Amino acid sequence: MRLPALLGGRLGGTGHQRRSGGRDMTEMGLPVDLPLPLEPPEPAEGCEVCASHDVWRTRALRAGDYSRATDHSVRIRRHDTGHGG
Ligand SMILES: [Zn+2]
Repeated sequence: MRLPALLGGRLGGTGHQRRSGGRDMTEMGLPVDLPLPLEPPEPAEGCEVCASHDVWRTRALRAGDYSRATDHSVRIRRHDTGHGG
């Protein structure tokens, strides 16, 4: 009686086909968006802090400094008094 040697041959190897590396990651991850500033918050009426940040935010945008502009937007939304948050 001959043993079916071929059956035992390569079953112990990699059972799964390797997935093409990396390409599937894009579907699982978040869409790659540019870090655009959020919807610009409106400064609260009568709040000097808001008004100030609004001025500086505008200047930053004109200077192309979107990082700083976003920072001012955030502070307008949630600075000390916290209105609008
Ligand atoms: Zn304010």
